[in-house]
Amino acid sequence: MLVVMRDQASRDEIDHVVELLEEAGAQAHLSGGEIKTIIGVIGDRETVYALELDGLPGVEEVIRVLKPYKLVSRDFQSADTVVRVVRGAIVGGDSFAVIAGPCSVESLEQMQSVARAAKDAGAVILRGGAYKPRTSPYSFQGLGLEGLKMMREAADEVDLPVVTEVLDIRDAETVAEWADVLQVGARNMQNFMMLDELGKMGKPVLLKRGLSATIEELLSAAEYILKGGNRKVILCERGIRTFETYVRNTLDLAAVAALKTLTHLPVIVDPSHATGRRDLVVPMARASLVAGADGVMVEVHPEPERARCDGPQSLDIEAFEAMMADFAPLLRLVGKDARVT
Ligand code: PEP
Ligand code: MN
Repeated sequence: MLVVMRDQASRDEIDHVVELLEEAGAQAHLSGGEIKTIIGVIGDRETVYALELDGLPGVEEVIRVLKPYKLVSRDFQSADTVVRVVRGAIVGGDSFAVIAGPCSVESLEQMQSVARAAKDAGAVILRGGAYKPRTSPYSFQGLGLEGLKMMREAADEVDLPVVTEVLDIRDAETVAEWADVLQVGARNMQNFMMLDELGKMGKPVLLKRGLSATIEELLSAAEYILKGGNRKVILCERGIRTFETYVRNTLDLAAVAALKTLTHLPVIVDPSHATGRRDLVVPMARASLVAGADGVMVEVHPEPERARCDGPQSLDIEAFEAMMADFAPLLRLVGKDARVT
């Protein structure tokens, strides 16, 4: 439920509503705009709905939202959430954030070479997997803590922040020690215990859409993190399972445009996992930009043919640089910050 206060409602009027809600055992989350305050209410639906808040002083409207999410909704907060990562990286608002790096961290030299290229071309965050969610238990599982340290060292040399996946909640503290943004992979999107934990931690979270998750399920997963108190969430469309086999997944670009209307959270696209094919990554990255995405996350490897994971969908450095240069006219077209070039 949302309680929309009148323009310039007084502090006492707002506090009174919050008090009543808390007495009823509900949580009140305030979203204070310049003119209006909106109170997002979380609690037992029946109890909260039964409260007679409509006529109270300062209350303009009580919206009984039926969706399974509230805090992530545009109804709750109309202004875009801008996620500020360390070292000046911004995701959301007027910027277009490029996140680049290999599927998995393999060596310090590999990370240094991608980190330099990423920085020079205008990417704002370095990616790399240290704990890898592999379909087969016999595939390369990642370098773990050693990988985190290599990525940190390479990123520090070029002053970039780092995003990496938390595969298991038991590793969350360790990953948070070495990384700036914590990634929840597609396979963990509905790991509710993990979402709860990340909600309590302060670091920005990059939440990837599940392999077969609906838009509503993605938003509900994000709601767990916001409900825990962490509003720094970036959503990522990474393709979904369909009957099509030519591509690894089907990139749901309509979801990007839909999410931008449904939620205030930034939405980025991962065209690498969405297509699984190097030749489709750049066109889909360009399409994502034009569809309104707040950024892209692209797999880049100095020698894709030698990659231990996802080589066929990784761009080499030259192709990555060309993609970045080609973004410039499109960024002007959509009125986004052209800092990526
Ligand atoms: C990744 O980005 O490293 C990854 C494993 O992607 P996903 O969780 O979307 O499959
Ligand atoms: Mn990958």
